[in-house]
Amino acid sequence: MTLLKRDVGELKGIKPHTVARLHHLGLFTLGDLLFHLPLRYENRTRVLAINALSKGQFALVFGKVQRVTEVSFGRKLLVCTIDDGSGELEVKFFHYSFSQAAALKTAVYLQCFGEVRWGFNQAWEMIHPEYKIKKTTEQIEFESTLTPIYPTTDGLTQKTLRHLILQILSMCDDELCEYLPDRFLQGFSYPRFRDSIYQIHLPDPVQGINLKAYQRLAHEELITHYLTMCCAKASTKKAKAAIFKPAKKLQKTFLTSLPFTLTGAQQRVISEIAVDCAQAHPMLRLVQGDVGSGKTIVAAMTALQAIHSRYQVALMAPTELLAEQHFRNFKSWFDQFGYTILFLTGQLKGKLREQGLDALAQGRIDIVIGTHALFQEHVRFCRLGLVIIDEQHRFGVHQRLKLRDKGKKDDFHPHQLVMTATPIPRTLAMMQYADLDVSIIDELPPNRKPVLTRVLPAQRRDEVIAKIKDWVAQKRQVYWVCTLIDESEALQGEAAENTAERLIQALPSVRIGLVHGRMKAFQKDAIMRAFKQHELDLLVATTVIEVGVDVPNAGLMIIENSERLGLSQLHQLRGRVGRGDCESYCLLLYGSLPEMAKERLSIMREHHDGFIIAQKDLELRGAGEMLGERQKGLLRFKTVDLERDYALFEHVAEWGDTFFSDIPDNIPRLIARWMKTSENYLDV
Ligand code: ADP
Ligand code: MG
Repeated sequence: MTLLKRDVGELKGIKPHTVARLHHLGLFTLGDLLFHLPLRYENRTRVLAINALSKGQFALVFGKVQRVTEVSFGRKLLVCTIDDGSGELEVKFFHYSFSQAAALKTAVYLQCFGEVRWGFNQAWEMIHPEYKIKKTTEQIEFESTLTPIYPTTDGLTQKTLRHLILQILSMCDDELCEYLPDRFLQGFSYPRFRDSIYQIHLPDPVQGINLKAYQRLAHEELITHYLTMCCAKASTKKAKAAIFKPAKKLQKTFLTSLPFTLTGAQQRVISEIAVDCAQAHPMLRLVQGDVGSGKTIVAAMTALQAIHSRYQVALMAPTELLAEQHFRNFKSWFDQFGYTILFLTGQLKGKLREQGLDALAQGRIDIVIGTHALFQEHVRFCRLGLVIIDEQHRFGVHQRLKLRDKGKKDDFHPHQLVMTATPIPRTLAMMQYADLDVSIIDELPPNRKPVLTRVLPAQRRDEVIAKIKDWVAQKRQVYWVCTLIDESEALQGEAAENTAERLIQALPSVRIGLVHGRMKAFQKDAIMRAFKQHELDLLVATTVIEVGVDVPNAGLMIIENSERLGLSQLHQLRGRVGRGDCESYCLLLYGSLPEMAKERLSIMREHHDGFIIAQKDLELRGAGEMLGERQKGLLRFKTVDLERDYALFEHVAEWGDTFFSDIPDNIPRLIARWMKTSENYLDV
């Protein structure tokens, strides 16, 4: 094990409460501390002349104590005036002890470090600076490097952090070696790894901060993530998998039973998948297709092939409701072939559950459909040949990689088909899906009319309500989406409840239902089911309806405070309407409309292609926000600042592929340096 993987508790002289605070900051290993980067620096390498100070500057000054006065105007104040020959500076303390005051009163010289302010009485001052009392001018203490200021937490001082990091630097010198080739470093004018680490933690005051040192670490970290996924892919690809026989006749029968024909894009993706599944190695394929592009049929066509070859299929969806929707679809499609489908949900309990699980384990079930409960310990398969994961963006990258292991038996893996409706820009996709081959359904079924999108001020709510009346009179259904971004689910729920109440008052003849994130899953499902069966006309919802629900009769969506949502999320929401043959509408209501939100909403009005919208979203909001914490699938980085380092993404895949073949020996070393052991699901 590399030293960097050692626990912080093993550092010399470290106290248990310090360990606890480091853990609180997410710092568990020596490596975590090594990559704990400063927020900023202070310069204590030279003393500044008082008459050369400027406002707001952090400075080290040294002067002779002139006088010390205690003033009392309501609260007490201790003022110690020092003079360095160039001018005077007042050092002020609002909180001080008796002994502190006594010591200052007899002090000869004072060394202070703090923020310079221009005081009320027209003199330079520092409030509560760090200070040291000195007897002679020879005793001035300088630092030899800039002083890093680290992100920290209560009870953990900068001094302790600095001390620990210095200790690690001296212990782990052997680990600071260079793993990346010279031509890469030269190409980007990057310093070597060891130099970067030193330039970050102990920067030379003359050379100053080297941004390249930061970028270099971020770049190495990004490439390492990419390489980790490449390794996962390579090791899975080496494993064995079922060879699915062509199922042309069966698929043809299935297709003729559908009320539509496949789009060209669906056909292309289905044949890409068929090629993968005819290999003796596992498929790892991501199907990216906009909302409504018809991914479920693609999944069904693949499932037919698997079952035809006598293998079992597991289909996993992120919510019970979606799983149920899939169950109904597959049932109506596959009953003609006599296939057995098990719907495995939390509701399935007791004897029935046991029977279902037994049947699955004995191979009497052809397809099992459910939520992530499918991959629990006690769920056993007989001949699992294909795993389909729907709406993958709801599952994290690591979750996905773990699931992959779950389905394997010895050296035998199921084929994996992953589907997502969240188009992300190409550069980000390369990072996030490096372990998958990608197919794109870039065509919507014909006759699908774009959702007419209008942007309206919230004041025109009355008109909107009138529109709902008309709409419902035509026997069509409506979504009303309440948004409260960055607020707690409780607040969101409350907002939705209030809205529902107001709508019930305004529209007494309309049947109105409500779903929000604080409701129990079964309550949510009951409401969604009622809406689907047209027992409700209007559904008031928070953004929980975002994922995959298909109610073709709902052709009108109103999104309140739409200026608060990102483009991708708006697109995702809007995808719920426009599923039938009739005209459909999306009304984006706004409260206040800052410039950027205006631009965003007008993009929604003009564009309907999820990929274009995602690209625009990225341009407007920047990678940091777009990939922020709301996006669960995101990898966590130690040194990468998405905003600052976004440009590096362009250079990750290309260099990653080069390193994958050119420096195979260093790959496990890089992974050991950067990845947590828990992320290290690879046999490297
Ligand atoms: P998504 O890609 O969002 O999962 P679905 O698979 O739910 O989309 O399909 C959306 C709707 O379009 C469904 O009602 C489905 O039956 C229908 N559909 C799928 N493919 C076609 C097609 N080629 N022509 C017409 N309708 C289609
Ligand atoms: Mg879907």
